[in-house]
Amino acid sequence: MSDRRFATRAAQAGLRADLGTGAVVPPIHPSTTFERDPDGDYPRGYVYGRQGNPNRAALEETLADLEGGAAGVAFASGLAACAAVLRALPPGAHVVLPQDVYHGLRALVAQRLVPAGLQASAADLTRPGALEAALRPNTRLVWVETPSNPLLGITDLDRTCALAHAAGARVCVDNTWATPALQRPLEHGADLVVHSTTKYLNGHGDVTGGVVVGREADVEALRAEQVLGGAVPSPFDCWLTLRGLRTLAVRMRAHCEGALAVADFLAAHPRVKAVLFPGRLDHPGHAVAARQMSAFGGMLSVRVRGDAMEVAGRLRIFRRATSLGGTESLVEHRASIEGPGTQTPDDLLRLSIGLEEPADLVADLDAALATRARVHP
Ligand SMILES: *Cc1c(COP(=O)(O)O)cnc(C)c1O
Repeated sequence: MSDRRFATRAAQAGLRADLGTGAVVPPIHPSTTFERDPDGDYPRGYVYGRQGNPNRAALEETLADLEGGAAGVAFASGLAACAAVLRALPPGAHVVLPQDVYHGLRALVAQRLVPAGLQASAADLTRPGALEAALRPNTRLVWVETPSNPLLGITDLDRTCALAHAAGARVCVDNTWATPALQRPLEHGADLVVHSTTKYLNGHGDVTGGVVVGREADVEALRAEQVLGGAVPSPFDCWLTLRGLRTLAVRMRAHCEGALAVADFLAAHPRVKAVLFPGRLDHPGHAVAARQMSAFGGMLSVRVRGDAMEVAGRLRIFRRATSLGGTESLVEHRASIEGPGTQTPDDLLRLSIGLEEPADLVADLDAALATRARVHP
């Protein structure tokens, strides 16, 4: 990592003058194969598209740099990145997952990895004492998501890493929601960081991707999962994600500012039961979040009185869609998208605050919450 500050490094993510043309923005290399020298060597390091590609290498280097890690390994989706970390665990290993872990990861573990021999248990890692109780002699990994989805729970990274390491376990942090612009888990002792780059890192809702960042040796072990598992991102997707990264620092500032304005508005509204946002003083994780994040992010959840789906249906600027981290604000009724067995309250709406003028978002919510809507207290 260079000594330049985050925003400076992000603004020039992957920009390297092209030796052939002088182009400032790098070209896209769609080629699936790369030529050998007459003596059979591959002096430029690239052989075949699944094994390696210049656009993917640039993305991996950049993400490692932004997270403060030694190396990165990119995947075709965030869940493929998560799966690589869990599949690389030794047979019979136990993993501790947060209680409100990303629902796709919960399904992956329950439906694919536990039947294949992984041991897993869930713990409320936002609560002191919960991790101690969940650790077993064969615990190899503690999985952390902070802020969590969709309850915005905050897990203390310093504390969790110290406890896990004392028990001989590694820590992997899903940093999708905070992004390295706001929180860098490796600086708090985490061993691995995963991202769904689909969200804030690409930031424009037009690429599905994932990455794992960590120490050189750990990432090398995951490269086998990438190259042999084959869930590699396309050169164009890597190029687009790098383009998105160049505006990450400035986008995150605007997302944070908008989320704070919306959270404060909602907290004062009579139809609102609770606002779940770590930037508010009344959030139980506020002090920890203030210590480990430089700002509180662009995501919040709100619990409303009455029919949450109806409130979502009355919004005009917020789009009703899943996902997060794009330029456009999104509203989502999590319980119905997660389906049967969800632990998410039915009155909860998750908001991804985009880059619109915060006053317009507040006005949109104000109109949707207007009391002429039916209220069932
Ligand atoms: C979206 C998301 C994932 C999964 O990423 P995909 O790119 O959809 O595979 C994992 N973790 C978190 C926190 C997410 O928001």
